[in-house]
Amino acid sequence: MADQEEKQERHGSRERVFRRPGRCAFCKEKWSPDYKNAALLRRFTTDRGRIVGRGRTGVCSRHQRALSRAIKRARELALLPFDAHI
Ligand SMILES: [Zn+2]
Repeated sequence: MADQEEKQERHGSRERVFRRPGRCAFCKEKWSPDYKNAALLRRFTTDRGRIVGRGRTGVCSRHQRALSRAIKRARELALLPFDAHI
């Protein structure tokens, strides 16, 4: 698993959200994803409004679950787009 992430890092020339995978920003900062904080949640979605996978953001599974719930809740409240058509 670690190998795969490393390879992705080396190949990936487009690093857009976070540079270091493997470290959960939520554990580090000791906060949890909040559906009201759309600006924060936006950092964990692609420009098309999709949730970015853990491999790229380094969010742990516990917080990734909380994050996806928060994003889905924010979508219901129209704080985030469901799907942005470009
Ligand atoms: Zn975490």
